[in-house]
Amino acid sequence: MSYITRVLEEVKQKDQGQSEFLQAVSEVLKSVDVIFKQHPEYERMGVLERLIEPERIIMFKVSWIDDQGQVKVNRGYRVQFNGALGPYKGGLRFHPSVNLSILKFLGFEQVFKNALTTLPIGGAKGGSDFDPKGKSDQEIMRFCQAFMLELYRHIGPDVDVPAGDMGVGAREIGYLYGYYRRLRNASHRGVLTGKALLYGGSLVRKEATGYGLMYFVLEMAKHHNIELKGKRVIISGSGNVAIYAAEKALECGMKVIGMSDSKGYIIDEDLDIHVIKELKEVKRTSLKEYVSLVSHGQYFEGSIYDYDLEYEIALPCATQNEIDEKRALKMLKNGCMLVAEGANMPSSNEAIECYLNAKILFAPGKASNAGGVATSALEMSQNSMRLSWTFEEVDQKLQMIMKNIHQQCLDMMDRYQLESYNYVKAANIAGVQKVIDAMITMGEY
Ligand code: NDP
Repeated sequence: MSYITRVLEEVKQKDQGQSEFLQAVSEVLKSVDVIFKQHPEYERMGVLERLIEPERIIMFKVSWIDDQGQVKVNRGYRVQFNGALGPYKGGLRFHPSVNLSILKFLGFEQVFKNALTTLPIGGAKGGSDFDPKGKSDQEIMRFCQAFMLELYRHIGPDVDVPAGDMGVGAREIGYLYGYYRRLRNASHRGVLTGKALLYGGSLVRKEATGYGLMYFVLEMAKHHNIELKGKRVIISGSGNVAIYAAEKALECGMKVIGMSDSKGYIIDEDLDIHVIKELKEVKRTSLKEYVSLVSHGQYFEGSIYDYDLEYEIALPCATQNEIDEKRALKMLKNGCMLVAEGANMPSSNEAIECYLNAKILFAPGKASNAGGVATSALEMSQNSMRLSWTFEEVDQKLQMIMKNIHQQCLDMMDRYQLESYNYVKAANIAGVQKVIDAMITMGEY
């Protein structure tokens, strides 16, 4: 039995029931076998066992009071997965589905994504099963304060620097940071990223993941001689990542013809991104309302990936496992020739197999959505230097980082003789090797 197979068997036994975590571990480990063939000594050094075990998991009670005076209790988490490359870094997710398996998968992915940015940051993830939907502003604030009341002991600008993720945007980061500042009696701005510009936020952070995704797509298209102008695009999600991916795609002359949310999707040949922004960023309401504001839009319930429609590009930007094998096959039938992930693990491992078998271009989230965390690291740099870069400066750095991640993928394809569309293996090998090198050279075990 190979080292990888043995470790996969062991983790399946040990972490039974953590399906998302097991899925992420299996996807990464199976694609980095070349590293372990070249380095048989890694088995004696327990490299894989060290990679798949979080360095620390913090779980805590978050008790808060709703507007009716009722005490509510949620569960809070921080998974500090691997700090070999620098302070732990990764978002906080507030969503009712949050559990340890989801946060371990997100933390594990974050380690290698952060390595790909080449910035000095380790990987972590955290959050709570708190559902922000339908909560008043006061309730959100009280929840964030209760969450920080425990989290503040475990984070710091040189220790662990959380950011946003699903359900955690600038509003939540503001409440979290405000409470941290009071608890610590110090203004350590570098303790959280995604802050408002007024107190240490960075320009482009809001747009970074979506824009970064499109910068990666532009690099892929350039390398494979594909003209993007006029290409038809569908995007799942209509949150932070999806909105700015759509904005950049439109700016690049592509035609965004569909977007979705957790209940349904809109199809519109002349999609109005300003209306989507108004509905989601300002009103925080359902996409369903789009059709009452834009006469040429159509709304359907369910997943956008079940709809029959011709398009060349799909940008999954909502959540994990949105696309299974059946949906992947439908996407191929609809003419999809490029999939780039804005979300984390939106494609199941079977769906990824379908893309690879069809030899279409596929950018895994680890590489293509790294622009968000990279810009968070740029926010940390600005906070340390106590200065603010212009929009153009940050945007240029973001473009360079995405270009560099793409180049690292090409280098791995070249070094390991991979197919020119196999960005999955290439990104995994590049990220994993960096983390292993750091752990070994620091003598950590
Ligand atoms: P948001 O909370 O801003 O938006 C999430 C979007 O996904 C919403 O439109 C939401 O719909 C939709 N959604 C949620 N659950 C489902 C579901 N089960 N099926 C279909 N749609 C769903 O989150 P972000 O945009 O920040 O994050 C989206 C993804 O990108 C996540 O996987 C996140 O981990 C990843 N990511 C985010 C980064 C960032 O910088 N924000 C960085 C890197 C990755 P509704 O509006 O109805 O709730």
